[in-house]
Amino acid sequence: MPERRPYVAANWKMHKTVAETRDFLTAFLDGPNGQGPEVVVCPPFTSLPAAVDLCAGTPVKVAAQNVHQEESGAYTGEVSPAMLTELGVEAVILGHSERRQSFAETDEALAAKVHAALAAGLEPILCVGETQEERDGGRTESVLVRQVEADLAGLDAGRLPEVVVAYEPIWAIGTGRTATPEQAQEAIAFIRGLLGARGERAERTRIVYGGSVKPDNAADLMAQPDIDGALVGGASLDPGDFRAIVEAAG
Ligand code: PEP
Repeated sequence: MPERRPYVAANWKMHKTVAETRDFLTAFLDGPNGQGPEVVVCPPFTSLPAAVDLCAGTPVKVAAQNVHQEESGAYTGEVSPAMLTELGVEAVILGHSERRQSFAETDEALAAKVHAALAAGLEPILCVGETQEERDGGRTESVLVRQVEADLAGLDAGRLPEVVVAYEPIWAIGTGRTATPEQAQEAIAFIRGLLGARGERAERTRIVYGGSVKPDNAADLMAQPDIDGALVGGASLDPGDFRAIVEAAG
C-alpha cells in the first residue's frame, strides 16, 4: 500500500482579518514541526500575504479558498492562479459546497479550475459530497461519481496524486452533525475506488474528510484506513482546537 502523508487543512471561510490571522498564526505556528501531517491554512484572500509571510520557514502551507480558471480578463471580483502563486500561495480549495450552492459553481468550471491550478503549480483541494436529500434518497454514490468524474475530467491519471480530494457531506458542514467514521470511510473508500480505476498512481491521492471535525472526533475519523486527514471549518478558527486536530492526525 502506498504511503500517503496525512493532510490537515483549516478552511477559515470568510473569517479573520489580517490582524486576526496574525494572532492565530502567532499562537499556532510553534506547534507543527514538519514531522506529523502536512498542515495547511486557508485564509480569505486579504489575509494571504500576511499568512504567507508568517508561515515562511515553517512547515505550514498557505492555500486560497477559490481561484478563477482564466489567466486574466474581465472577471470582476475574481483572482487568477498566477496572482496566488505570485504571493507564495501553494494550494487552493476548489468546489467547496458553499461555492457550489451560493455562487453557482459548476462541475464544468471546476474541471477548468483543477487544470488551471495544476498548470500554475497550485495544489487543488477538490471538495465533493452529497446533500442530506441525496443521501436519504440513496444517491450518495451517484453524486460522488458525477462530481469526481466531471471535476477531474481530462486530467492525466499520473497527476492525480497532486490533487487532494475532500469528501465533505453537505449535511455535516457547519451543522455539528459529523459523519460517523464508518460513513466517512465508506464514502472515501468509494471515491478511492473511482480514482483507482484510472490507474495505479491514483492510490497515492490523499482523500480527507470534512464536516464538523472537532478535537474530540478527529482521531476516530482519521484512524479509518482510507481517511488521510481532514478539512476543518469551524474548529480551525481556534489555534488550540486546530492544533489538537493536527495532533490527532499523527
Ligand atoms: C468546511 O467548511 O469545509 C467544513 C468542513 O466546515 P465545518 O468543519 O465547520 O463543518
